[in-house]
Amino acid sequence: MAEARDALLDGLNPAQREAVEHVDGPLLIVAGPGSGKTRVITHRIAYLVTHVGIGPGRIAAVTFTNRAAREMRSRLQRLLGDRARHLVAGTFHGLCVIILRRDGEAIGVPPDFVIMDDEDQISLIKRSMEIVEIDPKRFPPRAILSAISSAKSQLLGPEGVEARATGYYDEVVQRIYAQYQVLLARTHGLDFDDLLAKTVSLMQQAPTVREKYQERFIHLMVDEFQDTNVAQYTIARELSGKYRNLAVVGDPDQSIYAWRNADIRNILSFQRDYPGAKVVNLSENYRSTETILAAAQAVISTNRQRLELDLFTHNDRGKPIVIAEAFTEDEEAEMVVEEVQRLAREDGYSLRDCVVTYRVNAQSRALEEACLRYGMPYKLIGGVRFYQRREVKDLIAYMRLLQDPYDDVSLTRVINVPARGLGKRTVDDLIAWAGSLGLPAYSALQLLAPEQGQEPSSSPFDARQRRGLVGFLGLVNGLREQLAEVDLTALIDVVMERTGYRAALLESGDVDAEDRLDNLRELRGMTADFDGPAAESLAPFLESAALVSDQDALTEDDQQYLTLITLHQIKGLEFPVVFMTGFEEGVLPHVRSLDDPEQLEEERRIAYVGMTRAEQRLYLLRSFRRRLAGAPQANPPSRFLLDIPYELVDTPARERVIAGGRSPARLSALDREAAAAVAAGDRAADLEPPPFKAGDKITHASFGKGIVVSCTAKPGDYEITVAFAGDAGVKRLLHSFAKLEMAGQPTA
Ligand code: ATP
Ligand code: MG
Repeated sequence: MAEARDALLDGLNPAQREAVEHVDGPLLIVAGPGSGKTRVITHRIAYLVTHVGIGPGRIAAVTFTNRAAREMRSRLQRLLGDRARHLVAGTFHGLCVIILRRDGEAIGVPPDFVIMDDEDQISLIKRSMEIVEIDPKRFPPRAILSAISSAKSQLLGPEGVEARATGYYDEVVQRIYAQYQVLLARTHGLDFDDLLAKTVSLMQQAPTVREKYQERFIHLMVDEFQDTNVAQYTIARELSGKYRNLAVVGDPDQSIYAWRNADIRNILSFQRDYPGAKVVNLSENYRSTETILAAAQAVISTNRQRLELDLFTHNDRGKPIVIAEAFTEDEEAEMVVEEVQRLAREDGYSLRDCVVTYRVNAQSRALEEACLRYGMPYKLIGGVRFYQRREVKDLIAYMRLLQDPYDDVSLTRVINVPARGLGKRTVDDLIAWAGSLGLPAYSALQLLAPEQGQEPSSSPFDARQRRGLVGFLGLVNGLREQLAEVDLTALIDVVMERTGYRAALLESGDVDAEDRLDNLRELRGMTADFDGPAAESLAPFLESAALVSDQDALTEDDQQYLTLITLHQIKGLEFPVVFMTGFEEGVLPHVRSLDDPEQLEEERRIAYVGMTRAEQRLYLLRSFRRRLAGAPQANPPSRFLLDIPYELVDTPARERVIAGGRSPARLSALDREAAAAVAAGDRAADLEPPPFKAGDKITHASFGKGIVVSCTAKPGDYEITVAFAGDAGVKRLLHSFAKLEMAGQPTA
């Protein structure tokens, strides 16, 4: 026992150890990046389980992103082995789903509720605006949604908004909000904000439920506390109401979710709500080189509204920071990919060691294309997600409809997919008619069915429409009967066949049809984790689909790939090599922040979060020209670059970046390194004969069969142009990454 205890505590400095050994009562840690806050949480959990004897099922730990939660779970797995399975470790939203499914009925939340994603929400907002007759051209639905979301995260209902209304706009928001809630309730839907708000209501209105959870969770820990909003804080406080063992860790300099109404005042509230809380300071950074830390500190210290925290490191000085300038975003992306190749070739880094960040999703396009061009495997996180792809959403909508036929959002999504003669007019009429009866569409459809005898006279449909609608009802009911019969994987097949979805896709002539089918196969593959009849496994499957916000589930852990990720998603993670793209005024800092000092401070924190993810190498890139959703712009270098002390940066790079514009010797350190790589590569290429010649037949793992068009020497590699037989067409690939296989000799 004593030995295990030492092993657990040995890897901690005295302050961390003090926090880990603090067992009873509230705990607050406010400390800088890389100082071991997350490590304190995981070790403290392990300590409570192994040394204090707390059952793992009685400890909950929450964090902010699914990605960070996964990281936390894998660290816990290493510390606790099998016992880690019983811990509740996830996001606030995930925790709320668990609680609401089990006990939400106490406040009228149906146990089979569906989770509405962003796109579903927008469609409900639009419908609500139609009903309350507000013009979406004057009031953009997205702005309305974000106003509603903001109200919800502050726990304000429509009445609350009304009470606080200061003008016409608030009144508009309030009217749409009220209608939106009606539609949500009718479809058994909860949006992401509701998951939190309903859990708060449950805790406050159902004392027996509250007591049950308060009894269950002896310890509650919150990572990334700076980003919790009022609703989340309230949940944490309620859950820990009995034992008062709430431990929170955070860093105000990394607060980057103000747009989601994260509220750093929570740190102050915590001190007020728990006056005797144990406070621990951590000031040693274990993650980054001295150079990286100094550069990051220089950037953040320009912020006015901040609490100065001690932070130092004993790590080596490390390499200078590379600041490089490209001419276009495509070139910027190529520079990244080429540098990643060089790091892999010369410095022993693997692709998994490297990450590329960007401020807005649209920036990922150029990066993805460069990866494809170079044949470099990559994983995109937080971009157009797998679950957002049209075909995946269609199929999920069918599955949701089978789970909950009252889900109007899913019903309207698929009622005419594939086309079955139920046009927009018919569907609008159906929704309006159902609305006038105060019913979900599914119930209204049932009134139309012949066995109901007389069709209600109010029905607006002619005989043909009615046949179509009743046909669709029959399809849904028929599929629902399958739920008890088949497992999930088979259910997907049945849905694809009976609805005609697969056939329609194949006949559509859509150039992406094969890709889309591939995605559906991917989805089908993911059901393998769910055993038993679909009637039981459908709900958990849909849950995991709704909560996964990236492609995590799609890639094996041991595969090599380059990670592309937004600066918002990367929080809490760490990588040996970090490339940050888009260091331009208007990108980072974001264009919307330029004339707002508070928002600029947030942008600076976003840059700070990115920089402090790096362990050994940090590259800051910018492009002279960039096209982001529209016309190309030429933006000056980001002001954040100017804060980085001269001596931490490769000098030539810095001068050029500051001079701005394109200089003849355009590039910098990357260029010089690339030049060295060219020299080294050329020598290597001299020795290696070309791997293929024109006419060779080859196969590629994802593009299939093709014929080599040309094979030309490139620095340290060969670029091979291949005409593929399938949809891929002609592609340029790099030999070392594309892994082409010879399929046969050229026919003469
Ligand atoms: P962030 O604010 O970025 O989330 P953090 O404060 O949560 O950072 P951790 O991720 O917990 O920091 O720790 C950063 C790195 O330093 C991790 O790799 C962790 O394992 C390591 N580390 C933390 N404390 C120690 C220690 N006492 N000895 C050795 N390594 C440590
Ligand atoms: Mg952390």
